[in-house]
Amino acid sequence: MSLCVVGSIALDSVETPTEKREIVLGGSSVFFSYAASFFTRVQLAGVVGEDWPREYTDLLNSRGIDTQGLQVVPGGKTFHWRGKYHRNMNDRDTLDLQLNVLADFKPELPSEYRRSKFLFLANGSPKLQMNVLEQCQGASFVVADTMDFYINTELDALKALLRRIDGLVVNDSEAKLLTGEDNLVLAGAAIRAMGPSFVVVKKGEHGAMFFGKEETYVLPAYPTPNVVDPTGAGDSFAGGMMGYLAQRDAFDAKTLKEALVYGTMTASFTVEDFSLDRLRKIEREDLDRRKEEYRRMLSF
Ligand code: AMP
Repeated sequence: MSLCVVGSIALDSVETPTEKREIVLGGSSVFFSYAASFFTRVQLAGVVGEDWPREYTDLLNSRGIDTQGLQVVPGGKTFHWRGKYHRNMNDRDTLDLQLNVLADFKPELPSEYRRSKFLFLANGSPKLQMNVLEQCQGASFVVADTMDFYINTELDALKALLRRIDGLVVNDSEAKLLTGEDNLVLAGAAIRAMGPSFVVVKKGEHGAMFFGKEETYVLPAYPTPNVVDPTGAGDSFAGGMMGYLAQRDAFDAKTLKEALVYGTMTASFTVEDFSLDRLRKIEREDLDRRKEEYRRMLSF
């Protein structure tokens, strides 16, 4: 089953306590699509400028990711994000954010994209997310992500979006900011009361919490000793999760739980190098092998 995603496509600059990378491939929908491509066909929509290297599109296409919905703005500059991680490698500061071509992006989704059953609204303006949702009349399972930037600047549009989606994936600090609750269990319930039938709260190295109608559970992160750059972990988590659901063409509670495990495995590889460098070196079998190890770790 195909899966459509719309979100930022970026050239990132990332600093960790020990290393630095300038102008590398990033963006919420890029991490998402690459992660989901281990499971299913992905339709990616977004915008880039003239500085976007053609080889990046080739890389996405080589994974079976459809880029018909990728707009290239002549003379424009690609969205740029610069982040710096604290010593704990969990918290980070945004040092620079240039929306560039993303500021005026008006998505016009190709007709096949509009028929996709699975839709992921990756990090981006809630107004843009709503516009995409309205175009995707065929979508019967819609999940969105959001972040502090949009909670602070476009709260009303975000609340309108929350009433229209099936699931929200956010990190712990964003869940607290959105609800004003310090306790994550209460924050999860408060977000569900705003609309989505389920909420996944990501807690970085501490894993993820799931809040649904019938169940609440926690999944620890896979304990990799090799955390090089956490950028894109959240988007890869969502990509692994949605990719697996689209592959199975299901979103019942049991499949959703397994999908969260695949999301956890995918994210655990992403953090082991900068940009997509680690994901580029693995195959679906590596995800399955790590998942098996994870399953053994959790059984008692
Ligand atoms: P994550 O680490 O999963 O939160 O995702 C990091 C990615 O989000 C980076 O590749 C950034 O380019 C992208 N990003 C950062 N800020 C924004 C923003 N305001 N809107 C959309 N994408 C963003």
